[in-house]
Amino acid sequence: VDQTYIMVKPDGVQRGLVGEIISRFEKKGFKLTGLKLFQCTKELAEEHYKDLKGKSFFPGLIEYITSGPVVCMAWEGVGVVASARKLIGVTNPLEAEPGTIRGDLAIQKGRNVIHGSDSPESGKREVALWFKEGELV
Ligand code: ATP
Ligand code: MG
Repeated sequence: VDQTYIMVKPDGVQRGLVGEIISRFEKKGFKLTGLKLFQCTKELAEEHYKDLKGKSFFPGLIEYITSGPVVCMAWEGVGVVASARKLIGVTNPLEAEPGTIRGDLAIQKGRNVIHGSDSPESGKREVALWFKEGELV
């Protein structure tokens, strides 16, 4: 089965949106296999977003992701990666449809409250990157 790595970014945690966001995934019905509050290092953030290294916004992105604790989640189920991206909405919250997490809860591209893996391969890689084996059920 597919797995996806979902992360409430520091702005989402600071704004008290963790419950609301987890609730949307729970209601959708996928299986939660990992969950933790975590302060990530610069090294881990850079590894996570390594495909974006070289982009003008990369340093700001790393600063943002490490600016406070994040909530890390692993979800499992057939089609979970694409479905989670639909629940999340497109990168720019101003263009995200109402009803999506970014469409309902965010304004800025650089403060878009949540991450979701973009392919089943990324999902596998990112769950393994952010969780130790004993942290997953
Ligand atoms: P994520 O990977 O965080 O789920 P995404 O897949 O929608 O988001 P990516 O292209 O992977 O978008 O970019 C990763 C993150 O980098 C975005 O979520 C956003 O916070 C930031 N970002 C992307 N493009 C820009 C930009 N042009 N300006 C500022 N920040 C950006
Ligand atoms: Mg992405």
